[in-house]
Amino acid sequence: MARYTEAVCKLCRREGKKLFLKGDKCYSEKCPFVRRAYAPGMHGQRRTKLTRYGTQLREKQTMKRIYGVLEKQFRIYFERASKQRGVTAEILVKMVESRLDNVVYRMGFALSRSQARQLVRHGHFNVNGKKVSIPSYQVKSNDIIEIRENKRNSPIFKEILEIGKERQIPSWIEVDFDKFSGKFDHAPASEEVNLPINIRHVVELYSK
Ligand code: SF4
Repeated sequence: MARYTEAVCKLCRREGKKLFLKGDKCYSEKCPFVRRAYAPGMHGQRRTKLTRYGTQLREKQTMKRIYGVLEKQFRIYFERASKQRGVTAEILVKMVESRLDNVVYRMGFALSRSQARQLVRHGHFNVNGKKVSIPSYQVKSNDIIEIRENKRNSPIFKEILEIGKERQIPSWIEVDFDKFSGKFDHAPASEEVNLPINIRHVVELYSK
């Protein structure tokens, strides 16, 4: 399985935004972006004015990195979204937000999307009572996601759930931590998600 191998904090510095890729560390003073909010490398502190294409490219990279989706898969999402009726940018957001790894993360059952991906791959979750180990699995409205019974007492979930309970759960998701389960009410609209990017730029880039 392909994955990003670059140190993840460098990705935030490259994009000039916090992408929240490292779980708890992102909310602490240890976050490297707080101390060095400029791109890595020798010329990282130089200010450069981006062209329109450059802006579109950076926005696309940011969105991919937030969700941990590689180029090939991301383009497939775009192509599927553009063939559907409706606003492509909105459909694209719904698709990435409906990924099982993202939903697990949003529910507070993982501290980051990359951890969610790993836990899903290792078969820690059921969707509607059946084990699903595909991170890109598309969760549908009213689907129930639960931590599998034999995994609930593992030390990893003890730690995750303690922190997860303190997190703000998005309005399109309901979680019952006592039952180790949550419901995905609906795929959110972009205004609900409040991403730190302009999705229109992403669509423009792929539409060329
Ligand atoms: Fe980004 Fe989180 Fe690393 Fe901070 S700690 S730079 S938000 S990944």
